[in-house]
This record gives sequence, C-alpha cells and structure tokens, in this order.
Amino acid sequence: MTNNRFADIILPLAVRGRFTYRIPDDISENVRPGVMVTVPFGGRTLYSGIVCSVHDKSPDIKNVKPVINVHDTIPLINASQLRLWQWISEYYLCSEGEVMKAALPGGISHNNFKPRLEIFIRLSGKFTEDDMNEMLDNLKKAPRQLDILSSYIRLTGYSSGSEVMLISRSSLLSEARSSAGILDTLIAKGILTSVSQEVSRIAETESSKEPVKQLSEPQTVAFGSIKSQFQEKDIVLLHGVTSSGKTEIYIHLIEEQLKKGKQVLYMLPEIALTTQIILRLKRHFGAVTGVYHSRLNDQEKVEIWKRVAGNNSLSRYSLILGVRSSLFLPFSDLGLIIVDEEHDGSYKQHDPAPRYHARDSAIMLASIHDAKTILGSASPSVESYNNAVNGKYGLTELKERFGLIKLPSIILANTREAYRKKLMVSHFTPELLQAMDDALGKEEQIILFQNRRGFSPYIECSECGWIPECIQCAVNLTYHKGIGKLVCHYCGYTTSMPSKCGNCHSSGIVTKGFGTEKIEDEIKIVFPAASVARMDQDTTRNKNSFNKIIRAFEEKRIDILIGTQMISKGLDFENLTVVGILNADNLLNYPDFRAHERSFQLMEQVSGRAGRRQKQGKVVIQTSDPANKIIRLVLRHDYISMFRMQSDERITFNYPPFCRMVKISVKHKDRTQLNYYSDILGRDLKEIFGKRVLGPESPVISQVQLWYIKTILIKIEREKPPTKAKQLILEAIDRLEKVKGASALKIAIDVDPY
Ligand code: ADP
Ligand code: ZN
Ligand code: ZN
Repeated sequence: MTNNRFADIILPLAVRGRFTYRIPDDISENVRPGVMVTVPFGGRTLYSGIVCSVHDKSPDIKNVKPVINVHDTIPLINASQLRLWQWISEYYLCSEGEVMKAALPGGISHNNFKPRLEIFIRLSGKFTEDDMNEMLDNLKKAPRQLDILSSYIRLTGYSSGSEVMLISRSSLLSEARSSAGILDTLIAKGILTSVSQEVSRIAETESSKEPVKQLSEPQTVAFGSIKSQFQEKDIVLLHGVTSSGKTEIYIHLIEEQLKKGKQVLYMLPEIALTTQIILRLKRHFGAVTGVYHSRLNDQEKVEIWKRVAGNNSLSRYSLILGVRSSLFLPFSDLGLIIVDEEHDGSYKQHDPAPRYHARDSAIMLASIHDAKTILGSASPSVESYNNAVNGKYGLTELKERFGLIKLPSIILANTREAYRKKLMVSHFTPELLQAMDDALGKEEQIILFQNRRGFSPYIECSECGWIPECIQCAVNLTYHKGIGKLVCHYCGYTTSMPSKCGNCHSSGIVTKGFGTEKIEDEIKIVFPAASVARMDQDTTRNKNSFNKIIRAFEEKRIDILIGTQMISKGLDFENLTVVGILNADNLLNYPDFRAHERSFQLMEQVSGRAGRRQKQGKVVIQTSDPANKIIRLVLRHDYISMFRMQSDERITFNYPPFCRMVKISVKHKDRTQLNYYSDILGRDLKEIFGKRVLGPESPVISQVQLWYIKTILIKIEREKPPTKAKQLILEAIDRLEKVKGASALKIAIDVDPY
C-alpha cells in the first residue's frame, strides 16, 4: 500500500509557492510543521526545507518525490515564525524561501552546531575533614600534586561539608602553575574529577543587577500615558526630543514584561548603537539579555537562536536587543516590541529579497503574538506620525530633555560667504573652528558629521575635466587616500590612483569634494594637539571596532570624532558639547521625495548628541543655503512644522503615506534589450493601472555591476487593500517573463521602496 501523507515544504528558492512531498512511513511520526527536512529538487540537488503543513491531499502531479530525512525531531521554526514568513512573502511579493534564507542563521540548517565545551574540575566527593587532612598529609611527598589540591581549595573556598564546586581546568592549572600531567595523577587517584560542560560563545560582560532608575515627573506622565493607551491600542508612538529619556521609559516597560514572564524585542537600526544600549540593559536585567546582529559569526548566531527558543542548557534569553534580522528569532511569547529610532531608513532591506521594512514587519510580528509595539523617535517618520494623528496609533510626547537641559543651540555657518571672503580654513568655517576651539579649551568633546566616507567623492583632471568612473557601474570612483586607491561604493571595484589623466595624459589630477578621511587629515593639521578618530564603514570592519571607538570616546581618550551617519544616532556621551555638520547641502539635494524629511531627521538626530548631561550643547551647521526651509526648521527644532509641510506636499503630489508604492527594477546587460523589455512591461502595466504608472525610467545610478537598470513605479490608492493590485502586478511580470528572450532579465519587486 502506498503512503498517503504529504508535506508542504518551503525551500530556499526565489520561486513563489510551497512544494509538496510524500512522507515515507518510517519517518512519518517526525515530519511535523516547523521541522527541517532534506528533499530532492530538480535533478539531483538536495535541499533543506521547512515543513509548513502535513496533510493527505494528493497533489495533481505524478511521482511525488519523497522526503529524504528529518534533521531534528524538535521543530526549528514555530507557528508564529511561519506566520511571519508568510506575511512577509505576501506583503513584499517574494517567496517564503527568500524569507527563510534571510531568517535562518547560516549553519543552523546543517545541524552542525557544536556547543562549546569546557573542562571543569571538582573534588570527587564531599570528603570529611579527617579524610581531607589525610589526603593532604599523604600528598606532602608529592608537593606539586599538593599545590593543585590546595589551589582548588583556595579558589573554591572549600571546607568540609560545603557544596563541591566546579573550577575551570585552565584556571586551576594557572593558579597552581602546574601541568596537565600532574592534574591527571590526582584524577587517577580519585581525589579530583573532571567534567565537561557547555559554556557560552558570547562574551559576557559583568552584569550586576541595579534597580531601574526612578522616572522624572514628565517621564512618569509619559509612562502612564503609554500604558493607558495600550488598553485600547496596540501601537504607541513615543515622540520624545533627543535625551528626553525614551530609553529609560523603554527600560521600565521591559521590566514589567519580564516580570510577567514575557519576552521583549528591542530593535535598533544600527549595530554601533547596540554597544551602549546593551550595557544599559544588562545593568538592570542581567544574563537574560542577548544581542543579535550581523557581525556575529554563524555559531554565535545559532547559540542565540537556541537560547531564545530555550532549547539550550545555558540561560534563556527573554530580552533581545537587535537589528533588523532579530525579527526572525524563535520568539514564543513576546509581550512587547520596541522599535527605537523608528524613522530610520536602515530598517528597510533593499537587496536582496525579502525587501522588508523591519518596523512594519515588527508591528505584524507583535500582532501575531498579541503583543504591543512602541515606536520611538525624536523625529518620527511622516507615516508613523500621520498614523498617530489619525488615531491609528497612540501618541505620547516628551518635550523636554531629562534634567531640563536645553536642546542644543544651532548656529548656521554660511560656506558660500566664507569662501567668498576667504575665511575658510580647509573645509571649516570660522564659526565651526571657534566652537571647536572653545570646547577643546574646556576639555570637552566634539563630533563632526560628514555623510561620505573616503577621502574625496571623485577626482578630476584639471585640464580636460576627465573623471574616472567604475568599469561596472555608472558612478564616480571615490578616492581613499589611506590605501592609495579609487573604490566603487556600489560594487567594491578597486583600482590604483592614476598619476596621469586617462584622457589627455596631463598630470593635473585633483581631488574634489570631501569625505570623512579627508576631514580627519585636515583636522589633524588644524588641531595638531587634539586626539582625533574616525568612525565609518572603513574603520569599523573588525568585530570589536565599534566597541573600541565608543569606549575610547567615553573614556575621553578621543577629543574629536569624525564619522558618517553611524555616529548620528542614539549614542549618549556625557562630555560631548559640540557637533559640526560639515555639509548640509548634500543631504538636502538628494533626489528623493523623502530627502527633506530625511535631512531634517538626520540633522535633528546628530544635533541630539550634543550637550546631553550638564549643559546646553552647540551645533554648527555648514551650508551654502542658510535660508533653506528645512534648515530653518532644524534651527527651531520644529518637528511639527516639518511634518505639516511634508504631509501637505505629499497629499498634493500623491506620495506615501497617502498612496502605496511598488517599484519594479528591470535589469539587463544590454541597454537596447533592457529598453525593449522594460517598455513591454511599462505598456502592460499602463493598460491596467493607467496614470498610476511612472516610467520606465533610468534611475540616478543607471548601471551597477554591468547590469543596466530601468525602474517602473506604481502608485496604488491607500483606501483599498493592496492585495488585488499586487496580484495584477505579479501577473504582468509573469507575462513579461514568458516573452521570448526575457530570461536574460533580472526583475526585482520592491513594495514600499523607501
Ligand atoms: P533618549 O533615549 O530620549 O535619547 P536617554 O534615555 O538616553 O534619552 O536619556 C538621556 C540621558 O539622561 C541618559 O544618560 C540617561 O541615563 C539620563 N536619564 C534619563 N532619564 C533619567 C532618569 N529618570 N534618571 C536618571 N537619569 C536619566
Ligand atoms: Zn562599481
Ligand atoms: Zn585630462
């Protein structure tokens, strides 16, 4: 008799849909939703997939292939995770397999996680005082063995009748300055015993438990308001100015959840931020706190995964601090998700699929667990604030800094005028230099923000205007002086700095514009006595580099820290009083409907680092356009006017949050072919969506890694559920894929592409 049990399985492929396999009798008991199995696919390829459901409906195909084996009888993925994967795949128009690839730490699928074992030594029994004395006496003839035994007693504080304690073998040997051979003799004599035990791969910091800080009066009001709004609403937006104590409020909310035995996920947009916050959390919540981000190696990620799931002998994590991907951990009982700096663009994954927004997915994850979500920001995204204004989210505001310290004062420094009057020193205005000089004189610290890394964004021939570009992408190469090379920031292509022009062969090559590396060079010349450091992608490639730089700044071993947006968010330094924004113009002039919102947020954010403790800070914004309306709003820290201005504009021009957007990118290695196929798709979509379709057009970067790109944007009404429109888009893409020759295209769909 043939078996009639089947399993629907998610495979790590970009193909939408689940795959049905037959379940052989002998493994039938173990094939359950959430377990990982091996199955054949295509020719002879074997894949690891996740079982979503088990049923007896025979699929409409002959020769249904069998499941080959089950990795582990305990499900790897729980039902809530499967629901999240499904939601992400439906909402963001990708396959569940792509979500699976993003969700699972490498290595977990091979089931080759080896707990890290360490050898510990203990007394082999609870010896009486007499026995003990006798042993010590006997060992007088073997002084080196005696050393080990007395070291053990010293380290564990053993006295007869007390519990026998473990001591790690390595620390025992180093305390006794002895060797393994001598220890082995004691073990052979039955005096000591060795045992091996699992230890963590995650470096543990000292975690003494301090009580949470008492909230100030306005914080208490805000805390109460959040909790009462949670009675009716699942999501509350906490709009609090920088340094108002949002983090302290989160800590109080976390404490309540942990007391109830619930899990909490605390999300941050940037790894650099986890360094400081993790210490703040561990101080209060100790060993139940784990941190999850992309810098961990696979084994570390798997350990955290297992500690969240609770199937590991080490302590269970009930509070996770993490970036985007921490959404995918195996939570079973979340009570609260905190999305800090909710406006931040890093929450969106652009490439590869799933192109998900971690804030929006977190809201879905919370609803799956019947949990609450708190979104926090000093300058919320226009959509979240809009949701708060229209009542969909609750809203709590904190308008003052903790300790009633004033928000930093902002000085505008006009670069155009300073250049004209020849007052600029390198790239620094007199206003900025003055503020820096004052701060250094008082031994206060400074942060300089420049949103570009490298030395200069491009180099140019002063004779003929030639600018070297990437050979694979339509972008200028950035000069990195430290390595003496030109680098493409899109694909990583690297070439040496030319000594002559590639066009007219003159030697008049000059650097143009400036990045963090150049600022660092120049600052060292202007302030030779100051200690200067830089924090950007190039200086933080090593695992602990964030930690080192942040700690050095906290310990005042750095006077001036130069950095990209990495230093703009969330960091809390006591002695930092001056912030310089070196070039506000390139933030404002970015060609995107969000450029103004983003530049307001970024300037507000980076300003927020200044003067957080004792006294008001000072921010110098260098710009050639001090009359710019966004800059005027930053000057007054006027978020509400920024919000109104932006939402009016977006209503007028029909942009999110007043419509939904779906972006389709079509790529081909041949420009003519690309035009041909993208036009077919454009015409097809216009027949369905009419004027809601924009493009196909060439994006600002029209070629990356030899692939030419065209984009089509579709605006969908907010009022209707987007499911139907998304279905029609998928069908149009399916039709294009059937056109002859279309298989040479790469097509990517991005829902909410901002
Ligand atoms: P935000 O998250 O809003 O930027 P933080 O929570 O980081 O603000 O608070 C800013 C600084 O003020 C931190 O150093 C924090 O420890 C301190 N602080 C805030 N609230 C309190 C409080 N109630 N008691 C003691 N210190 C506080
Ligand atoms: Zn490139
Ligand atoms: Zn030239």
